[in-house]
Amino acid sequence: MTPLLKKDRVQFLHLHDVFADEETAFRRFLQRLSQKHVFISYSEAVNRIRNGGINRPYLCLSFDDGFKSCLRAAEIMKQLGIKGCFFLCSSMIGETDHERIKEFCAKKLLVCPNEFLSWDDVEQLLEQGTEIGSHTSSHPNMSRLSNDELSKEIFQAREVLGRKVGAVKHFSWPFGRFSDFSAVAAKTVFEAGFESCASGVRGCHVARSEGTLDLCIRRDHIVATWPLSHVLYLMARNSQKASASSNQWPKEWEDTLRDQSSCG
Ligand SMILES: [Zn+2]
Repeated sequence: MTPLLKKDRVQFLHLHDVFADEETAFRRFLQRLSQKHVFISYSEAVNRIRNGGINRPYLCLSFDDGFKSCLRAAEIMKQLGIKGCFFLCSSMIGETDHERIKEFCAKKLLVCPNEFLSWDDVEQLLEQGTEIGSHTSSHPNMSRLSNDELSKEIFQAREVLGRKVGAVKHFSWPFGRFSDFSAVAAKTVFEAGFESCASGVRGCHVARSEGTLDLCIRRDHIVATWPLSHVLYLMARNSQKASASSNQWPKEWEDTLRDQSSCG
């Protein structure tokens, strides 16, 4: 294994789905990665970045969008002792109306119709020791929302999830690029009480980051059936590029975020 993969760091990997015919590949993939990496929970990963403790090559898995297949993925992960975080869109949990699912998947997620988790499924995920995060209420492009709409997508979704699963600490924004988010949106996420805010921007974390200004979680999107060599290549590239200052928010967002930091 390349020395880059032995480097102490926290690497977040994120997926959307593990379809039935991908389960064997997913299990094998996790087993292979476990040989040289330590899988940790999302909260532990964030704590290690916030409070220090990046002393091994750590990996953390998360899933966006809340598809039904997450249940099987979580079962496989549990069998391997891996705890992930599932970022859910609160308005779609328990949705069974096919027309609404079809429209939401086509217009909001840009994917084919796919079954969503029910609240009972979410309960089951919690029993398996996984964490639940917020991925907004309705998966908008947050860069285009008014302040009122941002509040609804961030505060209300957190409240809905919180009533069902307890306090939700982590947030990931839809589509994941900085161009799909904004400084005001990031500020609102932290004002709402979230401890972390995750992008889909590739990278990994090699140094402690204190405070809102520093902590923008980088995650590598992967697909369960990709060849392991491809995922290892992405991880090695992250490891090579990462530095203590490489995971901050865009420079031009800092003034807006600093306002929030100074308010506590
Ligand atoms: Zn998404």
